[in-house]
Amino acid sequence: MSQPQPGAPDVLEKLVSLAKQRGFFFGSSEIYGGINALYDYGPLGARMRRNVRNLWWRAMVERRDDVEPIETSIIMNPQVWVASGHVDTFTDPLVDCQGTCRKRWRADHVADERRARGKPEDAPGCPECGGPLTDARQFNLMFRTHLGPVADDAAQVYLRPETAQGMFVDFAVVVQAMRRRLPFGIAQQGKAFRNEISPSNSIFRTREFEQMEMEFFCKPGTDMEWHRYWCDERMRWWTEDCGVRGSRLRLRAHEADELSHYSTATSDVEYLFPWGWGELEGVADRTDFDLRAHSKHSGRDLSYFDTETNERYLPYVIEPAAGLDRAFLTMLLDAWDEEEVRGEKRTVLRLHPDVAPWEVAVLPLSKKAQLTDVAHPLAARLRARFRTEYDETQSIGRRYRRQDEIGTPLAVTVDFDSLEDNAVTIRERDGMTQVRVPIEGLEDACAEQLAACRAASLERSRR
Ligand code: ATP
Repeated sequence: MSQPQPGAPDVLEKLVSLAKQRGFFFGSSEIYGGINALYDYGPLGARMRRNVRNLWWRAMVERRDDVEPIETSIIMNPQVWVASGHVDTFTDPLVDCQGTCRKRWRADHVADERRARGKPEDAPGCPECGGPLTDARQFNLMFRTHLGPVADDAAQVYLRPETAQGMFVDFAVVVQAMRRRLPFGIAQQGKAFRNEISPSNSIFRTREFEQMEMEFFCKPGTDMEWHRYWCDERMRWWTEDCGVRGSRLRLRAHEADELSHYSTATSDVEYLFPWGWGELEGVADRTDFDLRAHSKHSGRDLSYFDTETNERYLPYVIEPAAGLDRAFLTMLLDAWDEEEVRGEKRTVLRLHPDVAPWEVAVLPLSKKAQLTDVAHPLAARLRARFRTEYDETQSIGRRYRRQDEIGTPLAVTVDFDSLEDNAVTIRERDGMTQVRVPIEGLEDACAEQLAACRAASLERSRR
């Protein structure tokens, strides 16, 4: 089998430029010169991220009867992070350049950084200026702040570096409140913060990001089976639900020396980015490490009584942990396409219709009141069923190009014939095919076309 090819090396650059121009994402606080590795999501980005969150929520919570949702606080009792091991071990090795650039690097990324700058991986010294590097020292990635008005050590707290711990510390409350029996999961989406040493590749590695995590509690001994189940299920989600091409995804099992201290098996869902394979999601068998640690440190018994076998034990946990920002970047990169149409370059985002910011754009051929008087109420009607945009500026050709660039699957055009025949044209993004449909049944016609787009996206994800 031939190796999958990564996207063209300049595709990230082009995407970042389009993302800013069209309002997907851009640097945070740019009017003040920005701030390193922090980003804002513009109107289209916010819409698309909401769609991705919803797809995850639908697959992991709503369509299941064995997962409970939860929302826990970002700042928790600092003992949580002592018990979980984050205070002692959530570190990355840091080296400083002592040459001219004085940059700081993650020691285990130095070879990659050299390669990214066109230098041999084993070139001596700093990837940037070649200056000498210090020995590596451990740097804790948790952001610290103080709770309350006194900024002393006793008031020190952390911004959570992962959402997972909230689900472990609330395990017993959820079991009791929801009268849950094993196996079952607790899921949440929310912000996490890591003071990354070397943020890179736009929103791939940032210091504030969002996670979508689920802790699936099961009987020890059944964990391997559930691990396999969740690996399959998560691969299915990335391809079938989100439309990411399977040929650019892989599931990679961690080598023994790569495993986290709490895990007996972890497999990463990886995507072939323009710069190489990168992690989108980790599916980890966390054993009973976390519940055991929190039981010990808090003094509260977090064991589970199995009424079927009359046994008391600490459940094992399988954790699929995905990042929303990486999902969002992946879907944009995977959808990116450029092609020539009648001698002109067309940029098109071939996004899955459930992911795209808009499903339908309503475009009157001109700004004349005769047409906008029809198009406005039509857009209002469609909005009740679909994510619908209305746009009457510029020429129709430019508006089609813009909708292609932001990945809108369908464009509904109201023209002068519409006033006579009570029909409009639906243009489909990928094949640019056009069909004339009566205004009366427009919602159903759009639903049918979107179903066809979903089917085409599924087909593409299998490639
Ligand atoms: P990496 O090895 O890339 O640092 P990780 O293995 O530390 O990631 P996890 O702790 O498993 O990541 O977190 C689960 C998911 O959260 C990751 O797969 C990723 O999608 C996301 N994530 C983690 N760190 C970041 C970050 N700094 N920026 C954006 N997303 C992140």
